[in-house]
Amino acid sequence: MALDPNCIFCTIILGTTPADIVFRSLNVIAFNDLNPQAPTHVLVIPTLHTENAAGVARNSATITADLFLAADQIAKERGLNGYRTVFNTGEDAGQTVFHAHLHLLGGRPMAWPPG
Ligand code: AMP
Ligand code: ZN
Repeated sequence: MALDPNCIFCTIILGTTPADIVFRSLNVIAFNDLNPQAPTHVLVIPTLHTENAAGVARNSATITADLFLAADQIAKERGLNGYRTVFNTGEDAGQTVFHAHLHLLGGRPMAWPPG
């Protein structure tokens, strides 16, 4: 769970990689995705390094909850009528950054099933 200087999201937490940070608390930061897939596409991440959502849950139920509560707060602040939250786990699911991150997507209608 210590920060990993070789992890891009840990370097955002450390402040050595710039990011457009939209939310910050003790356990969580959130920033705009570099390659947005919706008008709101924010990544909500724990401020400690762990690979995926299950890793967060194993470490702390509180931090797991904090990720979802931060996403909900950001969505409410933006007046979204609805939103989608996604954790990709593993390469087959499309995970490319192995620091757990909750995608918050909104601001357009969302299709189902997802691609
Ligand atoms: P995933 O495919 O679930 O691992 O999502 C990784 C996400 O991180 C992608 O949507 C990328 O666009 C995004 N991303 C990668 N590097 C950065 C960065 N430096 N700042 C903001 N978003 C990033
Ligand atoms: Zn990390």
